[in-house]
Order: sequence, then C-alpha cells, then structure tokens
Amino acid sequence: MTALRIDGKAFAANVRTQVAEHVTRLKADHDITPGLAVVLVGEDPASQVYVRSKGKQTVEVGMKSFEHKLDRDTTEADLLALIDRLNNDPAVHGILIQLPLPSHIDSDLVINAIDPAKDVDGFHISNVGLLGTGQKSMVPCTPLGCLMLLRDHFGSLSGKSAVVIGRSNIVGKPMAQLLLGDSCTVTIAHSRTADLPAVVRQADIVVAAVGRPEMVTGDWIKPGAVVVDVGINRIEAPEKGLTEDGKAKTRLVGDCDYASCAEVAGAITPVPGGVGPMTIACLLANTVTACCRANGLAEPQGLTA
Ligand code: NAD
Repeated sequence: MTALRIDGKAFAANVRTQVAEHVTRLKADHDITPGLAVVLVGEDPASQVYVRSKGKQTVEVGMKSFEHKLDRDTTEADLLALIDRLNNDPAVHGILIQLPLPSHIDSDLVINAIDPAKDVDGFHISNVGLLGTGQKSMVPCTPLGCLMLLRDHFGSLSGKSAVVIGRSNIVGKPMAQLLLGDSCTVTIAHSRTADLPAVVRQADIVVAAVGRPEMVTGDWIKPGAVVVDVGINRIEAPEKGLTEDGKAKTRLVGDCDYASCAEVAGAITPVPGGVGPMTIACLLANTVTACCRANGLAEPQGLTA
C-alpha cells in the first residue's frame, strides 16, 4: 500500500481563506477588525522567525497585528504589566506569548495572567479545564490543526482507536482530549510506555508528538491506519553536501520514518508540509473565533473543535 499524502499546506491555505472571508464580513457588517498581539521576550532566532511569520500571516488575512518585542532581561513584573494592558485593550482579541520565555520568568504565571477569552494558544489553566470537561474553550493550535486534518479525512472519528505518542501540555494531552471529545478510544503513550510498537499497532489513528527523528517505523503501523506526524526535527543530511563554512547541511524530518510508514499506512502527513502549516492557520482561526465571542457574534463554522 502507498499511503495518501495529507497536504497540510493546502489545507492550511484553505483555513486562512475561510478566516479572511470571515474577517471581511466582520469589517463590512460590524466595523470590527480582529487583532492579534504577539509578545516576544529575547532574541531566540527560531522564535524570531515564528513571530515574523505569525505577524505576516495575520496581516495577510486582514487582521491587525501588534508585535511587542522585549529585551531578554525584561522583568516578570514588566511583562505582566504589558499583559494587563493587552487584556484591557479592546482592539486586541488574541494574545500570544512566544515560548520559551527566559528562565528568570515564570511561564505558568505569565500564561495564566492572560485573559482566558484572549488566550488564543489555549494554554491558560481555565481553557485547559474547559477542554478537559468538554466545554467551549480556546483550543491549542497544533492539536486543533491535527483534529481538522483527521476530521477532513475520516468524516466521523467516532469509535476509532487512537494512540497519541507524547504527553506534553502543548500537544500530547490536548490532542488526546480532542480525540476523546470526538469519541475515539484514546491511549496516551510516552517515554515510559512498555512495548510502544505493540501499543501503536492497535491504532486506527497515530499522532506522534515526541521530538525524536524518525522514531516510528512502518512495522509499528496497523495496515491502513492514519499517521499524523507532529514532530519537527532537524538532522544532518550528508547527501546535500556541505555549507560554505564546511558544516553538513541539514533537513527537517518528523517523528515518523515517512518512507516505511507510507508503505503501510492509509494516509500520512509529511514533514515539512503536514501539521506545521496548520499551527499558524489555527492561531488565526482562534483569533477570529475569540473576536466573535468577545462581540457576541456567530463564530465561523468548522474552524474550532
Ligand atoms: P515535549 O518534549 O514537551 O514532549 C515530548 C513527549 O514525548 C513527552 O511527553 C515524552 O514522554 C515523549 N517521549 C519522549 N521520548 C519518547 C520515547 N522514546 N517514546 C515515547 N515517547 C517519548 O515535546 P512537544 O512540545 O510535545 O513537541 C513534540 C514534537 O512536536 C517536537 O518535535 C516539536 O518540535 C514538535 N512540535 C511541532 C509543532 C508544529 O507546529 N508542527 C508544534 C509543537 C511541537
């Protein structure tokens, strides 16, 4: 079998189009423009790339982007004061604090200072609790993106057996909650799981969120299962030659060995071009959803859990 390649890039473009259409209607019918504030503390190069990309895509769908770049040595008190201002700013409907924060800042304290209604990352303890109890919440972007791809593929997920590999608060746990919410039978596997390949082999749906390059191989996969690869790992790629300063060039791979998994799976997301593009698309979707909720207006259909 050669698996269907799930095109997350195209799906994300479609989500952005739907967001842009909703933004246009909000402006025309209600004179409201959704706004997203992104806060970056420090100069971490990867975080700078993410923040730039978020700002660019926010503007492209017609929303307002407010970027706050703070020095690495910003105090926790100053960051909390900024969050307080953003919480009270009616032009801001979504607030995202780019993680990781410098070690002198308590991330949990900062995340939980965000107004839960503006917590478009879905990491505030209130949103975690709402999701866990099946109530309307802001849903973390990466798992929401995976859910959208799976719903699109299957229609209904009800009764499917799902294994989520990884138990992080950002991906693994909320992913499991979302699959449970769609009536899957869910197993969460992690670094201490006994006989992981045997556990994964039971699954109709495998979501890998581990951070270990190409760990999941085709012999772990039940024939016809759908594999969603969240992992983003940079590995050396000697076949690409050397960089100008003599170092090995690199390439991105997921947590699944694409070639061997694709021989057995029914469908699989590639890396890059699978889950990755869905994350920012879902951030934009969450921002427009937050804006509609804040104004008592109908939410866009199909853009949340
Ligand atoms: P994390 O390090 O917080 O969690 C990793 C999880 O994997 C842990 O729960 C751990 O128990 C489990 N694990 C580690 N080794 C294991 C093993 N040998 N067998 C089974 N389980 C094992 O990571 P995270 O933040 O959840 O991210 C996971 C991966 O997803 C990373 O590669 C990250 O870069 C990627 N990621 C991608 C996106 C995206 O937009 N596509 C977003 C977030 C994270």
